[in-house]
Amino acid sequence: MSVILISTGPEPEHSAPGHPERPDRVAAILDHIAGQEDLSSLPRLDPTEADGAAIELVHTSAHAGAVRAMAQRGGGWFDGDTFCGPGSHAAALRSAGAALAAVDAVCDGRSDHAFSISRPPGHHATAGTAMGFCIFNNVAIAARHAQLRGRKRIAIIDIDVHHGNGTEEIFWDDPSVLYTSLHQYPLYPGTGHASAHGGPGALGLNINVPLPSGTSGDEWLDRFEGSVVPAVIAFEPELVLVSAGFDAHAADPLATLQLTASTYAALASRVRDLCAEAGSGSAWVLEGGYDLDALGESVAASLRGLVNGGGDPTPG
Ligand SMILES: [Zn+2]
Repeated sequence: MSVILISTGPEPEHSAPGHPERPDRVAAILDHIAGQEDLSSLPRLDPTEADGAAIELVHTSAHAGAVRAMAQRGGGWFDGDTFCGPGSHAAALRSAGAALAAVDAVCDGRSDHAFSISRPPGHHATAGTAMGFCIFNNVAIAARHAQLRGRKRIAIIDIDVHHGNGTEEIFWDDPSVLYTSLHQYPLYPGTGHASAHGGPGALGLNINVPLPSGTSGDEWLDRFEGSVVPAVIAFEPELVLVSAGFDAHAADPLATLQLTASTYAALASRVRDLCAEAGSGSAWVLEGGYDLDALGESVAASLRGLVNGGGDPTPG
């Protein structure tokens, strides 16, 4: 299967001293890939900034304006976790643009799968609020963009260790988008109970799989297979989007699940199979992941799962 990479680069102008959501995250991924013979030659695509119309496919004009205004006055904090520097508005537009480019790469037939290695992340951002290190909800914007490109049924598979409250809220009552999330629970942001199934217009199309601290990679994959896979197959998605956080890795400092790089390879292989069955493709959008070594290894493992499938994790 073909895979294309899209990255804005580390975005050093979007940073705050000591903050875990830092430029080194993307640098670590790109450096790790560069050192892997089988991955360093994957095709690349340079993204462009998302424009205001794309941002407002999901966000209120008030939120878009508030981000711009905060950056223009030198920055500040949206909440205790979520910083904004003078360059953060532009960085957030580029991160959203990279998600759009990933969708376009698949919709244009240039690749079966695409992976956006960009920051800031997005899945906590609601229509009207930045929160949880997230300014604009990249994966939600990508979903709406894909629908404009003619892919009407979108499945979002959120593998970040935190629940994607923003994405859930945006598509809560929307039958055209299936949202699934495996996440540690309880944990920030406190949402994601198994009983949250979706609004009246989309009952059953919001699937939360809360997992206790200490959950192993094998248990995680079992729950994915039992709860997410049947729903994705039944939904017959025309495009799969992956909210690709890697903070469920055992080494991550922000959570206590026990996934390994092998878990991500198996997950990616399964997504590859699901897409093949549905005749669709996938676009992956980086979310969290705060241990630099684990992040690089987990993204590489995911890429190998997409390229090679489950039977051949190392080519040659
Ligand atoms: Zn996370």
